[in-house]
Amino acid sequence: MLDSGPAALATYRRSETLYREASESLAGGVSSNFRLGGTPVPLTFERGEGARLYDVDGNRYLDYVLGMGPCILGHAPPAVTAAVAATLGRGQLFAGQHHGEVELAERLCALVPCAERVRVGSSGSEMVQAALRLARAATGRRLVAKFEGHYHGWFDTILVSVQPPLDRAGPATAPTKHLPSAGQSAAAVEDVAVLPWNDAGALEAFLGARGTDTAAVIMEPVLCNSGVIPPRPGYLEAVRRLCDAHGVVLIFDEVITGFRVGLGGAQGRLGVTPDLAVFAKAMGAGFPVAALAGRRDLMERLADGSTLHGGTYNTNLVATAAAVAALDELSRDGGAVYGAMEARGERLMAGLRAAALASGAPLLVQGMGTVFNTAFAAGGAEAPRAVTDYRGYAALDAARQRAFLRALQDRGVRVTARGTWFLSAAHSDADVDETLGAATAAIAII
Ligand code: PMP
Repeated sequence: MLDSGPAALATYRRSETLYREASESLAGGVSSNFRLGGTPVPLTFERGEGARLYDVDGNRYLDYVLGMGPCILGHAPPAVTAAVAATLGRGQLFAGQHHGEVELAERLCALVPCAERVRVGSSGSEMVQAALRLARAATGRRLVAKFEGHYHGWFDTILVSVQPPLDRAGPATAPTKHLPSAGQSAAAVEDVAVLPWNDAGALEAFLGARGTDTAAVIMEPVLCNSGVIPPRPGYLEAVRRLCDAHGVVLIFDEVITGFRVGLGGAQGRLGVTPDLAVFAKAMGAGFPVAALAGRRDLMERLADGSTLHGGTYNTNLVATAAAVAALDELSRDGGAVYGAMEARGERLMAGLRAAALASGAPLLVQGMGTVFNTAFAAGGAEAPRAVTDYRGYAALDAARQRAFLRALQDRGVRVTARGTWFLSAAHSDADVDETLGAATAAIAII
């Protein structure tokens, strides 16, 4: 719905002008490559409040992007902004300890199954680096196994085979390594092996051959960067068993799933505990904060100083206060907010499926209530019941996806460019109804 009236489609004149201006000083007019490519241009926003975002053209959106996942309490959640405001006059950074970081660490240790000890940082990418370093330090081995279609941040050591073009991805059982960025060091991923995900046999074969050289297996426990794909029943348990059998450190990258699919992350929800896990996004409700959590004996390598983790901004007062307040909000009444979010998300998923069915569109809606993905089957095929890996997701109809997302945006509903929808505690039943109205109209015209 738009301020200019329910029937009017959004227009983007001011965003277009500002984008041209921005491109004269800011490379590409954006501050992250993942923000390039909005339609008609990357939009410029004025403010966010609850489930809504407002852009410079006066368009109002129901926001399912939520800053790419973090804003799980909606935009500008009062409990978090008040906690942050209360710190501002006390200073920002001490390069020393303060009680807030202990409060945060205690909460993380209480909520996250694998968290016997934690360290705090500012972004998911950097905490992944700490996890990989710890695994290599603890095992004295060099190889890391990661999975095709999984994203673990933008650093050279792990940025490989994230969204490889299918014609250059090699055989499904033995993917060809694909470096997505110019300027990457190929040497930095020499010690990284890329495997197909959701295939316990492939990991068993790999560790059978290379287990004694392998320090870590890292994965998104629910694949949220290529569709939203749950692990097959028994897959995570099999991975856990194989890692134990070969003395390999199992790392869950819970940057998206952490504090989103449940208070204990994917590991709490799915009942498989990794050795190390990385959190970011929802744990700070929009503020820049991240954590590495894990087994005490592994984390003690940071404590004894033998393995290095640093960061000037770690546990700055603003980010720390935000995370403590966010976790307190999310934990209230035993995490009751998750049940409410999930129910709304599931109603939205069911409504999208029904709208697609009614108009004969081959729409796949897959995931969990708090994070799910929509995508269309390609080439006149029927919608698959589910996709189980990156290749299944990558074969879906990208052009129709773009048209759908643009049609939604024009009707006041903002979804990520990958077709992933994030729910927040601020989305109401009425918001879901409004969204379904817009989605029904969008499906009808694409
Ligand atoms: N891991 C996963 C699973 C992610 O989704 C992301 C970010 N989208 C990262 C790591 C990197 O986190 P950050 O952008 O905070 O560096």
